[in-house]
Amino acid sequence: MTPDFSRVHRFHGGIQPPEHKQISTTMPLQAAALPDRVVLPLQQSSGLMAQAVVSVGDYVYRGQCIAQVKTLEGQSSALGAAVHASISGHVSELATLPVPHPGGLQSPCIVIESDGLDLPVPDHVQRQDDWQDLEAEQLLATIGAAGIVGLGGAGFPTHTKLAGGFAQDTRLLLINAAECEPYITADDMLLRQRSAALIEGIQVLVHLLEPEHVVIGIEDNKSEAIACLRAAIDDDSCIQLVVVPTRYPSGGEKQLIQLVSGLEVPSGKRPIDIGVVCQNVGTVVAVADAVIRHQPLIERVVTVTGDALAQPRNFYVRLGTSIEHVLTQAGLRPQQLQRLIMGGPMMGFALTDLSLPVVKTTNCLLAGSNEALGAPGEEMPCIRCGECEAVCPAQLLPQQLYWFSAHQQYQKAASFDLWDCIECGACAYVCPSDIPLVQYYRHAKDELRVLTDEAQKAEQARQRFEARQARLTRQAEEKAAKRAARAAKAQQIQSASKATAASQPKATSDDSLSSNATPPLSESASTSSISPSLRSSQQHKIALAAAQVALKRADKQLAAAKARREEDVTALEAKVEQAREKLKALQNVSDTLSDTVSASVTPATPVTAKASGSSTPAVSASLKQLKITRAAALSAVKKAEKGLLNLQRATDATAEQLDAQKARLAGAQEQFEAAEKALQKAQLATEPTQESNS
Ligand code: SF4
Ligand code: SF4
Repeated sequence: MTPDFSRVHRFHGGIQPPEHKQISTTMPLQAAALPDRVVLPLQQSSGLMAQAVVSVGDYVYRGQCIAQVKTLEGQSSALGAAVHASISGHVSELATLPVPHPGGLQSPCIVIESDGLDLPVPDHVQRQDDWQDLEAEQLLATIGAAGIVGLGGAGFPTHTKLAGGFAQDTRLLLINAAECEPYITADDMLLRQRSAALIEGIQVLVHLLEPEHVVIGIEDNKSEAIACLRAAIDDDSCIQLVVVPTRYPSGGEKQLIQLVSGLEVPSGKRPIDIGVVCQNVGTVVAVADAVIRHQPLIERVVTVTGDALAQPRNFYVRLGTSIEHVLTQAGLRPQQLQRLIMGGPMMGFALTDLSLPVVKTTNCLLAGSNEALGAPGEEMPCIRCGECEAVCPAQLLPQQLYWFSAHQQYQKAASFDLWDCIECGACAYVCPSDIPLVQYYRHAKDELRVLTDEAQKAEQARQRFEARQARLTRQAEEKAAKRAARAAKAQQIQSASKATAASQPKATSDDSLSSNATPPLSESASTSSISPSLRSSQQHKIALAAAQVALKRADKQLAAAKARREEDVTALEAKVEQAREKLKALQNVSDTLSDTVSASVTPATPVTAKASGSSTPAVSASLKQLKITRAAALSAVKKAEKGLLNLQRATDATAEQLDAQKARLAGAQEQFEAAEKALQKAQLATEPTQESNS
């Protein structure tokens, strides 16, 4: 649909309640006196709550950021608004305190005690005239860092809304100056005093969004503001001023869009979905202050009105100032204060605590008597008169919404477009049964939010549960696979050690062994000087050394597995036990062989020599043979050492091969020692004979 700016259009329904606006427009807009103390809630916008970045005792300057919105990952978030110190002084409290809310909620706040100096942030730049050089992203970041939210009352983070417009094509930038609610004149007075700042803010937004059309929509009951705007808008400006009839709620976003352009925002959609970005005049001035004057949102215009005040007017109020402080400056008459409303009589909510702070969305404080504001009437049953339906600007069925809300059929209310209700209160205003319809709708929306929240949490819990189950299954499968691999390896090692043990006695016939340790044995076997028992003993020692190495290695593997806290070490324990048993068995055999060898081989030759009483040719031959045996054993040691060295240098040598070679070397060394001992003994035994002969 194409926007039509040739005429002012109409929206469905609407009402014309008494305006009561002149009460607060007789005195000029001025700054309220600085408070001694401010209470700044961390949540002053829709979206995420800001996180305090100051501590109790810290000194803060006016305009200093004291709370930032962060995501779980610690990154700046797009949805939420930063909070700044509105006065200079010391942080005296970080506490959960009562905040303005229809439900009387408490929320985390930062409390600052004023030092009375109102010092700005040091090196504060007064004005930046080259803001046109900034990229769109820089502008959005500046607006976001200034903590600006929709000042018309919605409190949606402005940079988020503008980012949506920047991401899509903006056909229409609509500046909402309608301010349709009775009593409220904050925008009216702001326009009278700061129309030029509004135009600056519009220029920033035009630079950012590059819209096809720029329109300021204003009700015809603000003649002075209209005159100021006309004076501020240049003749060649792209800004179009559209004056609309005074009819509540023409300031509703969707209603004003329809009034000035004829465009209708479909049910369940946002203005940006049809290419429209709508901003309140106070918000646009705040954008100009942030981008051009580097001033974050620390104050706002508040209409302070009602018959309980001697001088109702509009004030610039520092955020966090107590309501009582503001009302006092407007000449509060406590005896006439029977109702206090934050916001207007149609959309505002009642408060009872004067110590509550002014927040970013506080556009009006209405302090009056029951007589002036009208005490709420007694609620009566719905008579199905249909008055509410006739005035509903959102073209809803208010009586149906009421019925479902009152009977806790919230989903049913949602199916009747409850979320399209702008809570304007027009239906309640005309209801002859004095049913507080908007309260029912707000409650139903709260319940739906809770239900949605719970459904989301349940969905997240389901996803977490499924992810955990999948992880446990995967871990179990991985463990089973590891166990199987370990068992297979243990089996392999066991088989290999069995094969090694079985191959030891056949060492003389094995080609690979004969190339290393066996040749000396083979050579010695070819000689008749070493008895079979000695040869058997030597072979046994090789097996014994191999068994010792195997046990040591198995022990090492088991210790490492335990250090890694592996659950299943049964296979390794079995392996250690097997190696130990094998070693024990070999040691038993070793003892027996040792006795046999010492009894049969070593003393034989000397005794024979001694018995003969001389160095017989047989003794000499025996000594010679022992020397040959020793030389052969030494040669075997050297060969085994060389073989081990080669294996250690080889890149593809396995641990089993290394172990086997080490065992061969150990066996060869023992064999050499035995041969050495035998030779020495034989030489000692023959010495006396040789000496006596000499
Ligand atoms: S105006 Fe009141 S009484 Fe009439 S239909 Fe609506 S809710 Fe019922
Ligand atoms: S409060 Fe909601 S239901 Fe009632 S008139 Fe306004 S938009 Fe319609």
